[in-house]
Amino acid sequence: MANTAIVGINWGDEGKGRMVDLLTRDHDVVVRYQGGGNAGHTIVNEYGKFALHLLPSGIFTKGVVNILGNGVALDCENLVKEIEEVKSRGVDISPENLAVSDRASLLLPWHRELDSLEEARLADKKYGSTKQGIAPFYSDKYSKKTVLAGELLYPEHLKAHLEDLLEWKNLTLKNVYGAEGYTMEQLMDWVRDFGEKIKPFVKDTGELLKKASAEGKKILFEAQLGALRDLDYGIVPYTTSSNTIAAFAPVGSGIPNAKIERIVGVVKAYSSCVGEGPFTCEWFGDEAEKLREAGDEYGAKTGRPRRVGPIDIVATRYGVETQGATTIALTKLDVLSYMDKIPICAHYELDGKITDRFPFPAVLPDAKPVVEYMDGWKCDISACRRWEDLPREARDYVEYIEREIDCHIGYVSVGPERDSIIIR
Ligand code: GDP
Repeated sequence: MANTAIVGINWGDEGKGRMVDLLTRDHDVVVRYQGGGNAGHTIVNEYGKFALHLLPSGIFTKGVVNILGNGVALDCENLVKEIEEVKSRGVDISPENLAVSDRASLLLPWHRELDSLEEARLADKKYGSTKQGIAPFYSDKYSKKTVLAGELLYPEHLKAHLEDLLEWKNLTLKNVYGAEGYTMEQLMDWVRDFGEKIKPFVKDTGELLKKASAEGKKILFEAQLGALRDLDYGIVPYTTSSNTIAAFAPVGSGIPNAKIERIVGVVKAYSSCVGEGPFTCEWFGDEAEKLREAGDEYGAKTGRPRRVGPIDIVATRYGVETQGATTIALTKLDVLSYMDKIPICAHYELDGKITDRFPFPAVLPDAKPVVEYMDGWKCDISACRRWEDLPREARDYVEYIEREIDCHIGYVSVGPERDSIIIR
């Protein structure tokens, strides 16, 4: 199999983790290229059920090297906890199968605190941050005010750098937010408790990827969140603070000249969204509650109930284009089995006109869904493993989506387990 990126087409939580878990067996290296511990991939495999936040989803596959690339918000504190938790359940994690880019910037203790302080200041105008420090982190990264993971290998340099940053950051914490600020002692304790534990994993992962590529090894690029949360192409300002799209994968991974032959876009058979912002196809009341229950739509990181609704063809088509998807994995088709009629948000209505174009963020809240219905199949499809095993109504639904988004649906997932999938 060629180099592959697995990306979200919509608002995130599409089921990317299960696709990475499935496809790692055809790859040698798995790289996370953006984001931090602010979202979670849920994976069910022979070790049990896991919610991964930072670790690449290839960590369960023997022989696969997992990399946290330079584009990631490296939250040492959460990573240490996650490594310990996953190891305690029988999974091997060592510098043999996990590497952290020396060019990844460190998410420092004040980033998380600043996130909470800013959300509190915004009050009812908040963007729905997960308060994991992601926005303050990326702001500082672009201001060149972060520490690189590689600096952990040079303690004297690290200390001097942290002293400079501390002085600068305390100005904001104390004078803007009236917070206490940090001391050098606190920072050095943090380095000892968390940074030192990550140090053995830190290396020149660009070199590692270059070598792997030259040897013909196959790389899988793993994204967090979806196209509609991309900093440049998503629903600004209700996006994350990094680029979630496949075009960024080589840059954020450490192999900027990589060619990605396959882009697997993951789409859920209905819509879900966490946090604030316009969500055109949203359902409310009993209807929403039933779908949320059927799909177990509660955040992997926060436990927050997700907003849900029918599949949104307008947003999905935009996501497919933005990601440059070459094939689609449609997940959670089994969740719709209880419905008599399958709802589809087929178009939007904006200013009294029907449109198929995903609107500019500022006018997106004015868009209304145009909903159409297809026949439901009303039977359990979770044991189907071949396309022809699916009831005709289910196949019709998949083919309808395929036609509308103009991209082949190569995988149809009918359950959370690794093998609950139909490959077309
Ligand atoms: P990710 O961040 O894109 O990996 O998505 P999440 O992990 O947040 O959400 C996907 C959830 O759906 C997880 O709990 C998966 O175990 C589950 N899941 C994935 N595919 C399927 C499927 O086809 N059917 C069902 N019922 N659950 C699925």
